Amino acid sequence: MQTRKLYYSDPYAHTFTAKVVALKPGWLALDQTAFYPEGGGQPADHGWLQDQAVTDTQIDEHGVVWHQVALPAAIGDTVAGRLDWLRRFDHMQQHTAQHVLSQAFWQLFKAATVGFHLGEQVVTIDLAGGNLAAEQVQQAEDLTNAVLRSKLPVRCQEVAPDAVPAAQLRKLPQVDKDIRLIEIAGFDLCPCGGTHVRDLGEIGLLKVVGSENKRGNLRIAFLAGQRAYRDYGIKHNQLASLSALLSEPLENAVPAVERVLAKVNELERECSHLRERVLTLEADDFRAAAEALGNVACIVRELPEHSLAEAKFLAGYLAEQGATIVIFGLPDEPYRLVATASANVGIAIGGLLKATVAQYGGKGGGSSTSAQGAVPCSSGQITLKELAQACAKALND
Ligand SMILES: [Zn+2]
Repeated sequence: MQTRKLYYSDPYAHTFTAKVVALKPGWLALDQTAFYPEGGGQPADHGWLQDQAVTDTQIDEHGVVWHQVALPAAIGDTVAGRLDWLRRFDHMQQHTAQHVLSQAFWQLFKAATVGFHLGEQVVTIDLAGGNLAAEQVQQAEDLTNAVLRSKLPVRCQEVAPDAVPAAQLRKLPQVDKDIRLIEIAGFDLCPCGGTHVRDLGEIGLLKVVGSENKRGNLRIAFLAGQRAYRDYGIKHNQLASLSALLSEPLENAVPAVERVLAKVNELERECSHLRERVLTLEADDFRAAAEALGNVACIVRELPEHSLAEAKFLAGYLAEQGATIVIFGLPDEPYRLVATASANVGIAIGGLLKATVAQYGGKGGGSSTSAQGAVPCSSGQITLKELAQACAKALND
């Protein structure tokens, strides 16, 4: 037997009593319920039966509403039900606001709503065609808010399929019996199985918060009622904090951030230039202290203070300044090695490094002029020396 649907006869009913009429593991059905089952883009109601949380509500093909609840109950028991009313009222605000916004897009631009999703964060509608300009979306938002301020009543009537005034409807019904028509007096008429507020004054405002093209349609994201009001508060607080940080009035926050970012970019460029300058001076010191192997300068050192990027820059720079072999060790876990050899030195530094680190359980390799590797920290210094010896041997051969 179908569940008596209190959410239709009185969408504001949020407490009720009912008899248990069916059970299955984790779920139970009642003779009547105020819990709205997920459907038509509107999420399931949550709440409590006795003191047990109802975490989902679904309707089956026989019109029976099932409540997901861990309540030990027997057929015939009387239970007290209570909705999570803040959640449900939010859904009613979002859902009714959607009717107004969809009608606004239809009236202004003949843009039909072909999708609706009431999410945890935002609500979206998909408009067929998807080619509206930002100013047109703004016009629809403006019209919606003007209509919301008019506080028009929202009425519901059930009609037989042959009595549906199809020509007046924004969209045609998707069911073939018990058709519920939701009328926003003089503005919108639409078949819908959701729950709605009694008049538009209960919504107050709607704000579009995004639009994007989605598979050929235009997806509009919005917030209505309490969600929009809360969002205004969050954004106001964020902007006020930003304005205080920047010591600028709210309305100047964006240009002020742009100026700060431009300054940061300029400083980063300057800093990177200075860093290279310091490194090249350091490279000159390294070269002055290099060991000569014939006519090749051999620079072998540990760089405990340098980053890998700095070591690579130094090694590359030094190898470009004449016949040079550079081997740097960066003591870290793992111990990293960076090595370069000028092209005219004629040794394959990548192969030498690969073979040396492999002896100590490390990995690495590279080209004939540039290589990189890593070994466990405990074998770092040994590897550094071994690699230097391998290079010296390769030079003599
Ligand atoms: Zn609806």
